[in-house]
Amino acid sequence: PTPQDPPYLAGLNAPQREAVLTTEGPVLVLAGAGTGKTAALTARLAHLLYTKKAWPSEILSVTFTNKAAREMRHRVGRIVGDVVEGMPWLGTFHAIGAKMLRRHAELVGLHSNFTILDTDDQLRLLKQLILAADLDEKRWPARQLAGLIDQWKNKGLTPADIDAGESELYANGRGKEMYAAYQARLIALNACDFGDLLLHMLTILKRDREVLADYQRRFKYIMVDEYQDTNSVQYLWLRLLAQERKNLCCVGDDDQSIYSWRGAQVENILKFEKDFPGAKVIRLEQNYRSTPHILAAASGVIANNSGRLGKTLWTNEQDGEKVKVLGIWDGPEEARRVGEEIEACQRAGKSIDDIAILVRAQHQTREFEDRFISIGMPYRIVGGFRFYERAEIRDALAYLRVVAQPADDLAFERIVNVPKRGLGDKAVQKVHQLARAEGVPLTVAAARILDTDELTSQARRALGNLVGDMARWRSMAADLPHPELARQILDESGYTGMWQAEKSAEAAGRLENLTELVRAMEEYENLGAFLEHVSLVMDNEAQADEAKVTIMTIHAAKGLEYDTVFLVGWEEGLFPSQRALDEGGNASLEEERRLAYVAITRARRRAVILHAANRRIYGQWTSSLPSRFVNELPDAHIESENSMSGGESLWRANWSERADPFADVARGTGRGPGWQRAAGVNPGGGFTSRTFTREPSRVVEARASAVSIGNKGRDD
Ligand code: ATP
Ligand code: MG
Repeated sequence: PTPQDPPYLAGLNAPQREAVLTTEGPVLVLAGAGTGKTAALTARLAHLLYTKKAWPSEILSVTFTNKAAREMRHRVGRIVGDVVEGMPWLGTFHAIGAKMLRRHAELVGLHSNFTILDTDDQLRLLKQLILAADLDEKRWPARQLAGLIDQWKNKGLTPADIDAGESELYANGRGKEMYAAYQARLIALNACDFGDLLLHMLTILKRDREVLADYQRRFKYIMVDEYQDTNSVQYLWLRLLAQERKNLCCVGDDDQSIYSWRGAQVENILKFEKDFPGAKVIRLEQNYRSTPHILAAASGVIANNSGRLGKTLWTNEQDGEKVKVLGIWDGPEEARRVGEEIEACQRAGKSIDDIAILVRAQHQTREFEDRFISIGMPYRIVGGFRFYERAEIRDALAYLRVVAQPADDLAFERIVNVPKRGLGDKAVQKVHQLARAEGVPLTVAAARILDTDELTSQARRALGNLVGDMARWRSMAADLPHPELARQILDESGYTGMWQAEKSAEAAGRLENLTELVRAMEEYENLGAFLEHVSLVMDNEAQADEAKVTIMTIHAAKGLEYDTVFLVGWEEGLFPSQRALDEGGNASLEEERRLAYVAITRARRRAVILHAANRRIYGQWTSSLPSRFVNELPDAHIESENSMSGGESLWRANWSERADPFADVARGTGRGPGWQRAAGVNPGGGFTSRTFTREPSRVVEARASAVSIGNKGRDD
């Protein structure tokens, strides 16, 4: 660095400077987590503006999230001032695609004021088309078709590009026809979906030389962050735009490619050098984010992947703490421990804004939310809804509410035709009229209207079934444990089935949330107490300006960093996910491992990994094995602690008076895996899961006090 360095170069290392100053020609920055890729890209943008190599409107700069775009704009603004306000082409692929498409909408038959459909609209439209095509929606769900169309769009395929093989993936070869019908319908509605924002633009750029030439001239510089997660259509689009000037700078890390399920292709990194011969490849090797222990732990895990491009990482930071690996007894204890650790941070004067809890699956947030509500710990959920605000949870709660409180009209309205049971708006209106006329709740009116001839026979039958079901559920409520009641209601109402029929990843996530809901209920005395808890949780919005702990999925944490990071639920079947294990292939397992790498490398100073010995599913305790990623952490950089020994002996004592819990389990290894790990024995065989039952509440309480012994200074 020299004294006359412009402000954005100060503090950058040599390869970072090279990335900033090599403005002409293709540049690929390939580097590990926390090496300052995003920092270099931001400085590069500042440099282009500061030296007036380009006007703000002449730079295309793609970020992975809108938040990242805002941050980049803010940082560059501090260097070059207001100029940055005029940066129209800084944003996500979708935001940029939408802006471009508005300017050329007519070239694909749209008007510039086209609407962008959300998933719900999209599904409604597809359902209509499926019906019109005389297909059985139960057999060929709209969501399945939506998923396929999305995949095709991610690959840059229009209906004309779909071959027989692809078409075969839906309704015995009618995929192509349905895709074409959908696209035609969208145009007629002057609408498009998210995938179209890029696909239409790609079509336009391919077809219209003038438009292409215009953009190729306009964009003097193109930059892309998180390049490893671009999909085919994004890649093709970039390649066309950069083909003329070739001033394309992409930064990425093959080890952080975690979106292949959404069509991302890490191969785009390899293609880069082929498509842009002579590209300068810059490697950044100094990590500025994390301590050596954290870095070594992450590197140790990712080293188990094959086919990596390979990178060196080092850091000048102080050693700091080792990565803590905490074996705990079960889910509730996990939430309690994390809560305690965070309170300790608070007492030490740290801001909880600097703390994140990273989960593998959305449903895992529930346990932490409940715990934090009860100890008054402010939190935010990033990239998703709070657990009890998710649509499927609200639906399920509505079912429980109509059973518990028959006068709950809002709940009744929510579920009356979910899942679809042929009760149209007309029928529901009639129930409303009767309720008003007689001054009774909707559920009562629904029963009374069956004695009239107000309804069509179809609606009558459907409503009759629902009314009968509700009466039965209410009578069951007296004898059945409430979680079991909930499970039966969700099954018998067809609500669970509705999501099961839609074989998408999203639906699978919703099903997991429903399972988690039932699990949460077990912690409450009865249905009333649980519903009371939920309404309190819903009311508990943290203050906007208050410091908060962040809870989010690993996917949502990409590119971000926190002082302290809790990595929870590192167990086989949870992380790596059961889906990845079931698929059995190495590819999905390696993607999970990249997620583990992303997760660990979010931490600046402190990473705590937790794994529970038991998880409760539908009242059954399932023992779980620590994630294979835990075993892959290099010993020298971790510090393990098992806080469950007290719980184990209590548990054993509890059981000694009863039947052997494993009596009906094939013997061989002797004890269940939880025992082996507690005793420090590494279970030899592959992944085994054993299920046993016990009465939870008493044992959990006893164990809680046992655990706090090993946790001095904390009264629970
Ligand atoms: P990821 O792969 O997770 O996206 P990244 O490579 O984009 O990481 P950045 O987020 O840009 O890394 O930087 C990580 C941290 O290092 C940030 O806190 C950043 O401010 C800091 N940093 C980057 N470059 C330097 C530097 N030359 N000197 C000091 N700190 C730096
Ligand atoms: Mg980054």
